[in-house]
Amino acid sequence: MKKVLIVGAGFAGAVTARILAEHGYIVTIVDKRNHIGGNAHDFYDEHGVLIHPYGPHIFHTNGKRIFEFLSRFTTWRFYEHRVLGKVGEQLLPIPINRTTINKLYNKNYTEDEVKTHFYGVTLEKETIKTSEDVVLSSVGKDLCEKFFRGYTKKQWGLDLSELSAGVAARIPTRTNDDDRYFTDTYQFMPADGYNKLFEKMLSHDNITIKLNEDFLSNRNSYQYDHLVYTGPIDAYFDFKHGHLAYRSLRFEHEHLEKDTYQPTGTVNFPNDYDYTRITEFKYLTGQNINGTSIVKEYPTSEGDPYYPIPREENEKQYQLYKTESVNLDNVTFVGRLAQYRYYNMDQVIGAAITAAEEIKEKYAQ
Ligand code: FAD
Ligand code: UDP
Repeated sequence: MKKVLIVGAGFAGAVTARILAEHGYIVTIVDKRNHIGGNAHDFYDEHGVLIHPYGPHIFHTNGKRIFEFLSRFTTWRFYEHRVLGKVGEQLLPIPINRTTINKLYNKNYTEDEVKTHFYGVTLEKETIKTSEDVVLSSVGKDLCEKFFRGYTKKQWGLDLSELSAGVAARIPTRTNDDDRYFTDTYQFMPADGYNKLFEKMLSHDNITIKLNEDFLSNRNSYQYDHLVYTGPIDAYFDFKHGHLAYRSLRFEHEHLEKDTYQPTGTVNFPNDYDYTRITEFKYLTGQNINGTSIVKEYPTSEGDPYYPIPREENEKQYQLYKTESVNLDNVTFVGRLAQYRYYNMDQVIGAAITAAEEIKEKYAQ
């Protein structure tokens, strides 16, 4: 019976742990935090409101296999996320859609007229390399300045032109009235929250959980046949190729004695304030309770690493670590920080399922 040590009890670690445990592996999972779930962790605050301490986590995927895998550990609440962006005194749908254009420019355009509008204002780019290219070629200069430039500067500390195309490409542009943030096939929240989902996923006779334990500060004290590491890859290698760039956030949580605070789950502030967005948890969770809890996200360069920063020079530096990592026969690197990828939860779950399959194959006799 092979022993596997897993560093990190977020989605990457927990999914790998469950699959390997079900295949007879003896799994120990350690996390330096005092809870499971990684950044998707949730809990009830002192007012009884279910909140996400590390910022709003909305599950969405097109992956049937991923949805079915998670469905073994939770029932679901249907939830389609909606976001408004504050531009001047107006709150306008983001992703930009027909309503956004009509309200902003005081028009009454049909879908076709919105298409014509975009055709008139967008800039043709021969190659799309940066996030600025993406935005200018999809919505043009005015909307770029009103919705994207300031938000991006706040979020990343960089100009749109300094970030890979993939960052802004997360946000589509629409000519119809669809105001959903995501259009994935499966858009649900775990009915009893993420923590319950993690508890069920990790509840298996072959899994031992150790919290408040930093693997890196005592790495020689562990015995295992295979290691699955889901923390930052540069830290694993003692930063021998330098520190990878990560973006952090400071979260300011507040409780208000009112029914609701804002008209949608999230309001983005592309131009005002030091925070990027405010999220009101009740919308996400559907919880029926007096009072409401919100979170403001203040981006910062210091603090826990939350976002890899997608740009060419960072990718090159990451590749130095990746080359080191593939030479380690009994270590798997999986997850947002270990693979230095701007992954959503479903992508991390997909990567973890693949990682677990590869480990199973490797040790299959
Ligand atoms: P993590 O969740 O970061 O887990 C890694 C774990 O490893 C952590 O618990 C950490 O404590 C532990 N660890 C690290 N180093 C060590 C060590 N040396 N010793 C012991 N333990 C260690 N995705 C979506 O799909 N939808 C969303 O709406 C969404 N919103 C987000 C909002 C914010 C603000 C952020 C930051 C992310 C959001 N994401 C969202 C992305 C989502 O959080 C990640 O894709 C996912 O949680 C990553 O899982 P992971 O297991 O790779 O990493
Ligand atoms: N973005 C923006 N304005 C917005 C929303 C998003 O400029 O109102 C850009 C910004 O660069 C942001 C990126 O698009 O970092 C991706 O947005 P998303 O909401 O997917 O970010 P996440 O939820 O991962 O923080």
